[in-house]
Amino acid sequence: MKNVRLRFAPSPTGPLHIGGARSALFNYLLAKKYRGTFLVRMEDTDLERSSAASEENIKDSLKWLGMDWDEGVDAGGDCGPYRQTERLSIYRQAVDKLLAEGKAYYCFCSEEELDREREAQSARGETPRYGGKCRDLTREEWQSRLDSGAKPVVRFKVPPGEEVAIDDLVRGRVAFETDGIGDFIIVKSDGIPVYNFAVVLDDVTMKISHVIRGEEHLSNTPRQVLLYDALGYAMPKFAHISLILGQDKTKMSKRHGSTSVVAYRDQGYLPEALVNFLALLGWSPEGEEEIFDLDGLVEAFSLDRVSKSPAVFDLEKLKWLNGVYIRNAAPERRLAFALPHLQNAGLVPAEPAADDLLWAQTVTEALKNHINAFGELPALIARYRQPVAYGEELGEELKALGEDAVTVIRAVLAKLEALETVSADGYKALLKEVKKETGIGGRPLFHSVRIAKTGSTEGPDMDKVAIIIGREGMIERCREFLRFMEHFLQS
Ligand code: GLU
Repeated sequence: MKNVRLRFAPSPTGPLHIGGARSALFNYLLAKKYRGTFLVRMEDTDLERSSAASEENIKDSLKWLGMDWDEGVDAGGDCGPYRQTERLSIYRQAVDKLLAEGKAYYCFCSEEELDREREAQSARGETPRYGGKCRDLTREEWQSRLDSGAKPVVRFKVPPGEEVAIDDLVRGRVAFETDGIGDFIIVKSDGIPVYNFAVVLDDVTMKISHVIRGEEHLSNTPRQVLLYDALGYAMPKFAHISLILGQDKTKMSKRHGSTSVVAYRDQGYLPEALVNFLALLGWSPEGEEEIFDLDGLVEAFSLDRVSKSPAVFDLEKLKWLNGVYIRNAAPERRLAFALPHLQNAGLVPAEPAADDLLWAQTVTEALKNHINAFGELPALIARYRQPVAYGEELGEELKALGEDAVTVIRAVLAKLEALETVSADGYKALLKEVKKETGIGGRPLFHSVRIAKTGSTEGPDMDKVAIIIGREGMIERCREFLRFMEHFLQS
């Protein structure tokens, strides 16, 4: 395919939503697959709700996910400007053309009049739509009202009795009757065009070849098709992707999990895991393999395998995927992602010294198999540091270990008390000495230590646990264990 140009056109009215990120991703993937252009522009005509902070959030989120754009806001290009509020003269020219050709008209109806009309239609059981009062005003009437300071809206004259259809790349042929669409506003009374109008001019002037967007825009599409026709432009190909639902099959909302991309970043998800997860919301790969990095997705992605049925947001699956990516990441990457969480929890200073970094790295490596997001680390560490209880389930094991356990732990305690700090290596050396001194090695040694330190016979590597709980923690546990064993062995 030639001249493939796709765009992501968010409204900067809030943080980048999971649904928006998925739309961006599908556009990105198709653009890259056909070595085309991925463009990002801002639909900021809702002046009240749009903000620079939202635009920044959206751009940061896209970059964090690895979806850099070739053209658009900040990147520049030949089809700019890339914010709708900076493109008003482009829209104005098109409005003037439609007005001159009689394809659009000024409407002077007041809000109250329109409300009354809508109420009356609803009362009759009709779908509310504009009745067409200003449709046939003469140009002279326009002029005199404009001269007297009226601020009209501009409405598009919808041709009656027609069918408009698109061949949607996901949904197949979708047709609409124009009789169901009233003459709709294209420019508001403050001169700002509405989305349906601006988007058409943007897609045309930016030479967009494919529009992939959420199903919620399907009902806007007939209006846009009518505008393409009226302006004499060829249409892009459309692909409307299904809604994202929560597990309970209602529209995805905060109840189902965080909805913004930054929330996942802040909880310690890896961008590659989130990208992989987003791709699987509606698209299914050909084989069994579900793990794809961005390049792999570009290779494998196709609209043929995008489903019409709603995608279900499964947080457990995202967690699982993130766990897989955490374990597959390089240790340095794991440390980089873990560090801010350890710092926020006060476990590592804001400006860590080499020792702190070593501690952070050891802890992260020790716990990497036990977390699905880096944000879980502090709570997990706190759990390790909690006082342990030596439960009944240890009875058999402790009976078997008997006095050996006491001998080992007494020796460990004495050594710990003589040290100032313990590193993972230092801890290994300590155990070696204990073995030499007591003549107890192998399973009796290691199980005694493990049980004393964790109250359990299973868990991560003991050298790492030693680091997590620290010298003080270990001393405390040795003492506690010895107190416990005194009773246990007597009973
Ligand atoms: N600004 C619209 C949105 O954020 C995008 C519409 C489109 O892609 O045409 O939903």
